[in-house]
Amino acid sequence: MRFDLITIFPEFFAGPLDHGILRRARETGLVQVHVQDLRLFTKDRHRTVDDRPFGGGEGMVLKPAPLFEAVEELLGHGVGDASQRTAHDSKTAIVLMSAAGQLFTQETARRYAKLDRVVLICGRYEGVDERVAEHLASEEISIGDFVLSGGELPAALILDAVTRLLPGALGNEASSQNESFSGIPSRHLDGVAPGRASSAPAPSESHFSSSMDVAGLATHALLDFPHYTRPADFRGWTVPDVLIGGNHAEVAKWRRAAALEKTRRNRPDLLLPR
Ligand code: SAH
Repeated sequence: MRFDLITIFPEFFAGPLDHGILRRARETGLVQVHVQDLRLFTKDRHRTVDDRPFGGGEGMVLKPAPLFEAVEELLGHGVGDASQRTAHDSKTAIVLMSAAGQLFTQETARRYAKLDRVVLICGRYEGVDERVAEHLASEEISIGDFVLSGGELPAALILDAVTRLLPGALGNEASSQNESFSGIPSRHLDGVAPGRASSAPAPSESHFSSSMDVAGLATHALLDFPHYTRPADFRGWTVPDVLIGGNHAEVAKWRRAAALEKTRRNRPDLLLPR
């Protein structure tokens, strides 16, 4: 899979690309990451990528031309103009990082992981000329309801979330299947809260947001269950007995209940009907 990052700060990505899972995935060729300096697509002496906003107001706006030309060079073909737009390749996503975009979720990461190529456009200043969102990007994506100063951190975040879903990236195939937002079949939700749980009653099955997994079973996006490691007693805070007992069925049952309880406590919105 290939990622292209279009930015005015190419050096920004040196850190995020060079550690852990992302580094290994690049070294083994699972992902190719190309960082494209947007300023190479300017024609003036000052390498100007921005200009003042039409209509007045604060700040500067990234000009459309360098962004269109950068993407066209990366794709190896033009994207057309107002009279004729070139058809979009369904295995490539051209993603504009934008606080005003649609929310990035684990579902988005799973969708991108099935593509051949993801081009991530990093905005700066007041943002990007709207024609990029309308006629160049295939989607406009936000990583959360807050405003950052640039699209580089959001792009690095998406790169990480997608790469770790690629088969072979984690080294252990099972590890991305049982984590937060992965969805578990509803028949496993027994609504039993673990020991330290709040006293709130478990919502009935019909109150969960659900979708269908590959086997056609209803699934729910729960958070991960709590993890513990040695020592079993740390400053008097002990690990739940069931995790030390060695009874795998009991451990599995406790983990399902604990994941449900944690979801109810930290993200009750995930349990509401959609
Ligand atoms: N004026 C814009 C914010 C511009 S911030 C607004 O109010 O919506 C500058 C750039 O940072 C944006 O173009 C975008 O690329 C990036 N950015 C900021 N917040 C982001 C977020 N939550 N998700 C994705 N990208 C974001």
